[in-house]
Amino acid sequence: MIRFEEVVKRFGDHVVLRELDFSVQPGEFVTLIGPSGSGKTTILRLLMTLEQVNAGRIFVGGECLSHVDKGGRMVPAGEKHQRRMRRRIGMVFQQFNLFPNMKVLQNVTEAPIRALGLTREEAEQRGRELLEMVGLSEKADAHPSQLSGGQQQRVAIARALAMRPEVLLLDEVTSALDPELVAGVLKVLKEIASTTDITFLCVTHEMQFARDVSDRVLMFDHGQIVEDAPPEKLFTDPDHRRTREFLQAVL
Ligand code: ATP
Repeated sequence: MIRFEEVVKRFGDHVVLRELDFSVQPGEFVTLIGPSGSGKTTILRLLMTLEQVNAGRIFVGGECLSHVDKGGRMVPAGEKHQRRMRRRIGMVFQQFNLFPNMKVLQNVTEAPIRALGLTREEAEQRGRELLEMVGLSEKADAHPSQLSGGQQQRVAIARALAMRPEVLLLDEVTSALDPELVAGVLKVLKEIASTTDITFLCVTHEMQFARDVSDRVLMFDHGQIVEDAPPEKLFTDPDHRRTREFLQAVL
């Protein structure tokens, strides 16, 4: 579903990803862990085409996000192609970024009406189903400012799902929440992961969540994967010294 082939990403002289190779199979839940600055968010931003690779290739569902032009330079795929690719991928951020002037239901229905061409009735029916899935049926007519952070984040998850993504990228989705609100958001994600065939790529500092929900965990350090293992192996008997050091620091 997702494949990175020898991907290099630099910001100026700073090499953030070094010939990175990994793939994620359809329906897999893969979590990226590692020290701050190791390149995890950059991977998600590349997938959303918010950043471009300097070398190497990224595939989503067999389609490449960039191509080599006649002069041998790596260039982004055309805008139309990028838009089509972006539509296959949903992303939920640390900051929920809901539209403050729209009610909760409208936050969930706006994009499918505009981008997928759903009628308002179709979008609202699906929107209400999704709000029920995230436990917020009774908040459809509230404004985001009337919700807790955890509830807002659950709306953001429903909004991402409304676009029927094949891949859902989660970037530290609980980092901005009060501790007592974290469990509700993680429970909803766990439920979605176990009841849909969506492919997940998740960056998180919630090690217990990573352990509970992931099929594989990738440990990053300095822009490379130092360990790729199922959670029961990685969290209890890691092979790599950097993984052991990192887990000792965060657990
Ligand atoms: P964290 O866990 O703290 O979110 P991360 O592993 O997600 O870290 P990234 O956000 O991917 O790390 O950043 C990797 C490196 O790239 C960092 O050193 C960061 O400062 C740098 N970086 C990211 N985006 C940019 C940018 N637009 N311009 C310059 N440097 C950047």
